[in-house]
Amino acid sequence: MKPLRSCLEFGLRFVGATLAMAVLLLGAPLLDTVSERYEPATAPPVQELHARVGVTLRRGDTLLSVLTHHGLERSLAHTLIERIAPFVNPRKLRSGDNIQLIVDPRDKSVQGMEVVLQDNLLRVKSTSEGWSAERHEIPSVRESAIKRGSITDSLYENGIKAGLTAQQILDLAGVFEYEIDFFSDFQPGDAFAAVVEETRYADGRRTPGRILAAELEANSKPVSAFYFVPRGQRGTYYDEQGHSLRRAFLRAPLSYARISSTFTGARRHPIFRTVRPHRAIDYAAPTGTPVVAIGRGRVEFAGRRAGYGNLVEIRHSNDFSSRYGHFSRIGQGIRRGSQVDAGDVIGYVGQTGHATGPHLHFEFLKRDQKINFLGLDLPKIERLNGADFERFVEFRNQQLAALRNGGRDTAMGIRLE
Ligand SMILES: [Zn+2]
Repeated sequence: MKPLRSCLEFGLRFVGATLAMAVLLLGAPLLDTVSERYEPATAPPVQELHARVGVTLRRGDTLLSVLTHHGLERSLAHTLIERIAPFVNPRKLRSGDNIQLIVDPRDKSVQGMEVVLQDNLLRVKSTSEGWSAERHEIPSVRESAIKRGSITDSLYENGIKAGLTAQQILDLAGVFEYEIDFFSDFQPGDAFAAVVEETRYADGRRTPGRILAAELEANSKPVSAFYFVPRGQRGTYYDEQGHSLRRAFLRAPLSYARISSTFTGARRHPIFRTVRPHRAIDYAAPTGTPVVAIGRGRVEFAGRRAGYGNLVEIRHSNDFSSRYGHFSRIGQGIRRGSQVDAGDVIGYVGQTGHATGPHLHFEFLKRDQKINFLGLDLPKIERLNGADFERFVEFRNQQLAALRNGGRDTAMGIRLE
C-alpha cells in the first residue's frame, strides 16, 4: 500500500478538521477514482508546536522498543503503553503497522503518539498530569465499485489485475463453488464482473469489503450471485431467481430407511469379524428402494468396485463428494460425467459387494476425507419469498444493471440493509 503513509500523515495532521472533511466527503459526489489527497477549503488550524515522525514497525519491533529507540525513557514508555492498552492491545501492533510519534521539534523528545485503528484515531499526548489518551472517529463512507476482467491466465491472476483482493477472489470462488469447477470450467476469454464494497476513510485509506454481486461467464454459461440479507437472518448469496447458492444437501439419500450403522472410528465388521473403522452410514432398506443424490453434482464413478459392489460416486463441489454402495442396480442414465440434481434417483438398494443384507452404504467426503454426514451442520435448501423476495428483486436489478452496463470502477454508493 504505497500511498498509505502520506495519507496517514495527511489524515493525522488534519484530524482536527475531521468535521469539515466529513462534510466535504459526504457532500462530494462519490468519486470513481481514488482521491489520495483531500484538499480542505480552508487551512486546518495550526496550533501545533509539535512535529510528527512516521514509524513503520519492522519485524521484531515492539511499541516499547520503538519508543525507547526514539529516546523516551523506559518508565515513561511503559506508562504510555499502559495508557493506550484499554483502546488497543499493544501486542497486536505488528510489523508493517504505522504509528506517528509526536515529537518536540527542538530536541526531538517524544511527546506522544498517534495510531489509526480501522475507523478510529487514537492519540496519546504528554500533559502536566501525565499521558492523556483520546480517540477520534475517522469519518468514512461505504461505497461499491465494479471490478471486471477476462480470464487469460487464471481467475486468481486476472482477478488481482482487475483490482480484487486475494480474499475477494477466494470468496468469489466460494460463492460459485457449486456452479463452476474452477479447475476445468474456465476457458481463455471467459469474463467476470464483481460489485465489491469498499470503505473509504477521510484520511484516504480504502479498505476492501465483501462482494455484493458477481457475474461469471464460464464455458459460455453465465452465472450470477447476489449478496442479500433476509429479514432476521444472516446474509448469503442467491442466484437470479432468489435460490440460496449455498447449495444444500438433502438430509438423507433415501426415505423410509433405518440407520443400521453410523459413522464410527471402530466397529466389529460383520463379515470380517475384525474391528475396523466404519467411516460411513449404513441405511437398512428393502432391496429395490430408490436412492437419490443428496445434492447437485457430477457423477465421477458408476460401476463395480470391490467391496462396494455397485457404486456411484458424485462430486458436488471442489470440496464435497458422496458415495453410494451395494446397489442392486445403478439408476438409468447414471454414468461417469452425468449431471445430477439433489433428489435424482441414482440407484437402488441391494447387497452387492461385501454386505450381509440389503442396505445402502453411504459415504460423505470433504476434500477426499470421509467425514460424518450426520454430524454436519449443512445449510437447508432455501428460497427467498414474500417481502424478502421483493426487496431482493430490487437489489438484484440494481446490481445487474451495474454489472452489465456500468463502466469501469463506477462507484455507486449502494448501501445494504
Ligand atoms: Zn457400510
